[in-house]
Amino acid sequence: MNIDFYMPVKIFSGEGCVSANQNLFDIGKKALIVTDAESAVISGALEDVSSALDSLGIGFTVFNKIRENPLILTCFEGGTTARNICADFIIGIGGGSSMDAAKAIAAYASNPDIKPEEIFESGLKPSLPLILIPTTAGTGSEVTPYSILTIPAAETKRSFSVPELFPKIAFLDRRYTERLPVSITRDTAVDALSHLVEGYLSRRAIGTSDIFAERGIRLWAQCITALREGEFSPEDRDRLLVASTLGGITISHTGTTFVHSLGYSLTYYHDIPHGRANGMLMGEYLRYTQEYAPQRVSNVLSWLGLADISEFAAIVKELSGSVVELTDQEIKAYAAKAMGSRNVGYSQGEVTEAVLQKVLRNS
Ligand SMILES: [Zn+2]
Repeated sequence: MNIDFYMPVKIFSGEGCVSANQNLFDIGKKALIVTDAESAVISGALEDVSSALDSLGIGFTVFNKIRENPLILTCFEGGTTARNICADFIIGIGGGSSMDAAKAIAAYASNPDIKPEEIFESGLKPSLPLILIPTTAGTGSEVTPYSILTIPAAETKRSFSVPELFPKIAFLDRRYTERLPVSITRDTAVDALSHLVEGYLSRRAIGTSDIFAERGIRLWAQCITALREGEFSPEDRDRLLVASTLGGITISHTGTTFVHSLGYSLTYYHDIPHGRANGMLMGEYLRYTQEYAPQRVSNVLSWLGLADISEFAAIVKELSGSVVELTDQEIKAYAAKAMGSRNVGYSQGEVTEAVLQKVLRNS
C-alpha cells in the first residue's frame, strides 16, 4: 500500500495555543500581518498575536485589505508593502481568503521583479516564511501549499502551489471561530466536507490520506445536528475546526476534484460563497462517482450515518440554502472552463464536458 506523504506544517491546537506557544513567533524581526477588515479583530486572534509579538520585541504592520475571493492585484500590493516595511515573515489571520492571500503576499514579497500574473509560473524564489491562524473552519488552507486567487481579466480563480507555500506553523484555536455567523459556519463546514469527500474519492487517494479523510468525515458527522439547528457548542466548534484541518491535510496530498473546478464559476459569476457552491454540486458528484468507486461512496455515507445519496444531497442542500438557475449557455461555458483545470483529472472515471454539463444540469 502506498503511504508516501509530506506534511511539513507544525500544528498547534487547543484553547489559548497562540499565547501558550508565543516563542514560536520568533522566526524574524518584522512581520506583516495579512487579514481582512474584521475577522482578526472580532475573533480575538489579532489581540493574542500582537501581544505575543510585543512580548518578543518583534515589530509588525497590519495589512487588512483582503476581501472574499482575493484579487491578485491586492496580493501584489501586499507584497510591495511587505518589502517596504522590510518584513521577513508573514502571519495570515482569517478565513481561506486571508490565508491564501498571505501565501501569495509571501511569494510576491520575495520576488520583486515579477508581474502579478507571473506568480503562476514556475521558477519563483522561495516565499517568506508563513504562520497561519484560521478564524473559520472550512478551507484547511493553514496546512496546504495552495493559494487560490481571483484574476478578473481571465474571469476565473486560479490556484498556484509550490512546496514553500506550506506554512511553517498553524495555530488552531476554536475560540477564534465562535463569533462566526451561522451562514458562514455552514458554508465553510460544507467546504471542509467537500475537501474530505473529494480527497477520499480522488484518484490520488492513498492509505495515508484515507486515514485523515475518514477521521475528518466521522468528526464532521458528529456536527450534523448542530449545523442543521445553527447552535454550536465549544465541542462542535472544535470538531469542525479539526475536521477542516484534516480536510486540508487530505487535499494537500490528493488535490480536489471537478466539484471545485465547477464551483469556481458559480462563485465567480453568481457570487455564491465557495463552500455553498461545492455543496450544490456534491450530491450529483457522489452519483457520478458511485459508478466507478461504489465501495468508497458507500463508506462516506456510512461514516456520515446517512442511508443513501439522496439523504446526503438533501442535507448538503439544506445547509447551503441557495438555488441558482443556470441557462443552457452558462452550463456549457462553465463545463468548458472547468475542463481546463488539472483537478478534473483527479476525479474517478473519464470526465468529459458532457459529464460536467450533466452534473450542473442535475444539481
Ligand atoms: Zn474548497
